[in-house]
Amino acid sequence: MMAAAPHNPTGEYQPASTIGLPALYAWPPRPLAALRYLFFDMLFPWGYLYIGMAFISWHYLTPDLSEMTEFEAGWIAQIWLRNAALLSLVAGGLHWWLYMRRGQQRKYKYHDKWPATDSRMFLWGNQVRDNVFWSIVSGVSICTAYEVVTFWIYANGYVAIPSIAAQPIYFLVCLLGVFFWGNFHFYCVHRFMHWQPVYRIVHELHHRNVNTGPWTGIAMHPLEHVIYFSVFIPLWFLPVHPVIVVLLSLYMAIGPAPSHSGFNFLEIMGRRFFTGDWYHQLHHQYFNFNYGNVGAPVDRLFGSWHDGSRESLQAQKERLRKQRRQTA
Ligand SMILES: [Zn+2]
Ligand SMILES: [Zn+2]
Repeated sequence: MMAAAPHNPTGEYQPASTIGLPALYAWPPRPLAALRYLFFDMLFPWGYLYIGMAFISWHYLTPDLSEMTEFEAGWIAQIWLRNAALLSLVAGGLHWWLYMRRGQQRKYKYHDKWPATDSRMFLWGNQVRDNVFWSIVSGVSICTAYEVVTFWIYANGYVAIPSIAAQPIYFLVCLLGVFFWGNFHFYCVHRFMHWQPVYRIVHELHHRNVNTGPWTGIAMHPLEHVIYFSVFIPLWFLPVHPVIVVLLSLYMAIGPAPSHSGFNFLEIMGRRFFTGDWYHQLHHQYFNFNYGNVGAPVDRLFGSWHDGSRESLQAQKERLRKQRRQTA
């Protein structure tokens, strides 16, 4: 049976096809398609940008490990500034092009409205200012705190540093592992965030943004930041090269900027790049499914995968009704 046409409740842009499982998870296996997914679909262009930024950041924008054996304001501030500047560059750049300059007008925009400028839900009544505040003041600070502890552990030799030249395959596994671990961890903490008591106090702040923008990515309650950035904790025990630490930081802090951009594609000078994440966009519109990401499809295992079609939406609504009846 053909899948029904994709369904976008706000009536603006919707991708032509429904959201399928990546070829990496195909059964029987499709090795070439899986490799194409790994090195092209999953990483191009944003993953490669973060990998490039991680190398540059580690070599030129991060203090030397020998300076990080003691917690001192100077090097901690340098890492905070680096994170704030890189987030501002990506989220701010996307915001400038898509929302201030309106460089592609509404082309590929999921939602029919522009960000709210007079809503009492947001600080100062302004969605963008509210999002920038939570992202920089809380998000960047808590991400930096985890990164600082991680570097302090490595600087003191509590965890050994594997060399890239001696163990290139291990480095590549860690590099790709950042994306899978980040996505899997995100599913777990995000699913917890939707437990009603936690949702009401903590996660509701992020969900005020039904119509998301680049600055929405890590616009979260500080308690959510503490849990979300706990993604660093395995690196306190598992030896990785410091570039991996920086990559994880960039992927988790900056990655949500394009994926919340509100546009399916970014179009610059006639070229278009995948930008938005329709899967997560549907989560912002409906709340109770698509908790994770396509790249680590845990939703598929637990039946909370909405592929964007009307049929799938009906099936999800039925699943939720059943769940409510069982818990009533
Ligand atoms: Zn979100
Ligand atoms: Zn959520």
